[in-house]
Amino acid sequence: PEHGSLGGSATGLLPIRRRQLAQETGFELLDTGAMYRAYAWLDLNYMYGESLSENISKHRFDFDMSTGKMKVTCDGRDITEEIRNLEVTAHVSKVAADANVRRIAVSQQQEFIAKELSKGKSVILEGRDIGTTVLPNASIKFFLTASPLKRAERRAAEIDGDVSEIAKSIGERD
Ligand code: C5P
Repeated sequence: PEHGSLGGSATGLLPIRRRQLAQETGFELLDTGAMYRAYAWLDLNYMYGESLSENISKHRFDFDMSTGKMKVTCDGRDITEEIRNLEVTAHVSKVAADANVRRIAVSQQQEFIAKELSKGKSVILEGRDIGTTVLPNASIKFFLTASPLKRAERRAAEIDGDVSEIAKSIGERD
């Protein structure tokens, strides 16, 4: 089995490209950005005084990439669409800056890798810190970049949103 990383500022692949990549390589893919989005969604929707990292450990998150667009559930509730909304998009970088949250995310990613490799599968992880932190020994590393406008256009097409509003939120986030 091999492992690859897809990093850089423009890694948010369109679902159709993910599906192609998975089909053509036979690799299992993991969109790590969707994990941080799921935690940001939790932070906005369920907080009972404890820290976000404590709160994350009280809920069950499942991540399923079999359709190309990562299906995300929290305690069985499908939050796939909600984690792409503007509210979550505006909040995610704050959550991703929390070292305890990153530790949880990275350990979940490493569990995913171990599980797939033990089944004889190869994996590709998509996210900006994969080649440096999560899979420093990846056998293949790709680093993609794109202009802020191109990224906003792609994201707008994906969520049917407004390009200038999304460009503004990408600028604030990065
Ligand atoms: O790729 P996507 O835009 O869905 O990622 C959402 C956010 O999650 C990023 O803007 C970044 O703040 C955070 N992220 C991260 N590390 C990753 C993947 C995403 O900090 N590996």
